[in-house]
Amino acid sequence: MCGLEQSEDTGVVFRDPLWSAETVPGYDVPGWFVLRARRHAERVTGLNEAELASFGPRARDLVAAVTEATGAPATYLLAFGENHRHFHVLVTARGADVPADRRNGDILRLRTERADPAAAARLVPEVRRAHLRLAGEAGRAPVA
Ligand SMILES: [Zn+2]
Repeated sequence: MCGLEQSEDTGVVFRDPLWSAETVPGYDVPGWFVLRARRHAERVTGLNEAELASFGPRARDLVAAVTEATGAPATYLLAFGENHRHFHVLVTARGADVPADRRNGDILRLRTERADPAAAARLVPEVRRAHLRLAGEAGRAPVA
């Protein structure tokens, strides 16, 4: 997760001093984004007060933007904190075409079954635009 600080801006929906939202290699299913703390903080219990206070709005705005851009009937907000302890949540649009045995926790099986980096990248500008509008000033934080 720390290594993503060096990633290109092409997959970035937004960044502010505390949070970054972007597509992540290995999780490049269309409509999937990672919201992560920019500093190395482990699990939700490792976040400081400023991060805890801003996490809610940032998570809300990203979920809203992904939902609007994809038209998905459900958008999940997932946090495990086991394989990658650096605090992050996975936001996954769950399209109407996703069968019952791939919903809820089983949606992670789509990580390989529906990996499509090009299609995932094509969605970024639209999610970015939706986020800009929905998040107001926060969405205008410079990508850097
Ligand atoms: Zn880290």
